[in-house]
Amino acid sequence: MNTSPQLSPHFSLREFTASATADRLRIDNSLPDALRDNATHTCEQLEKVRRLLDNHPVVITSGWRAPALNKAVGGSASSDHATARAVDIHCPKFGTARTIARVLAASDIEFDQLILESPTLPGAWVHIGFRKGANRRQVLTKFAGDKTYYAGIK
Ligand SMILES: [Zn+2]
Repeated sequence: MNTSPQLSPHFSLREFTASATADRLRIDNSLPDALRDNATHTCEQLEKVRRLLDNHPVVITSGWRAPALNKAVGGSASSDHATARAVDIHCPKFGTARTIARVLAASDIEFDQLILESPTLPGAWVHIGFRKGANRRQVLTKFAGDKTYYAGIK
């Protein structure tokens, strides 16, 4: 039984802040109160993603990142993870990251950025971010070892 507070029906605060890297490096990755609204909004949007993916469990592999954690994982300082407005997800019961990215890109879900990350690696994932009222619906692909963000799903 999960006793962590829920940010939305299917996403808990614990899942949103969990990080093996933070644990290993003993980084405090607890969510600041000031970002709670952003985190809640992100998880509410993720409920739409979950419904789109046939209600299969959507696993957050990285949500909020404290500045020290963001630095440790090589994230950009302007990353939406640092403002609790983006998550990295898997949904193995639905399909590969590329399949998920294609379905999301073709949906009417209002996201800011959708990034297919490292699609040639077995650990490929989808990054999705939400900005209240200012979503750009940018769709990008980023390959491992290549700094370029390519337009569209590659
Ligand atoms: Zn991400």
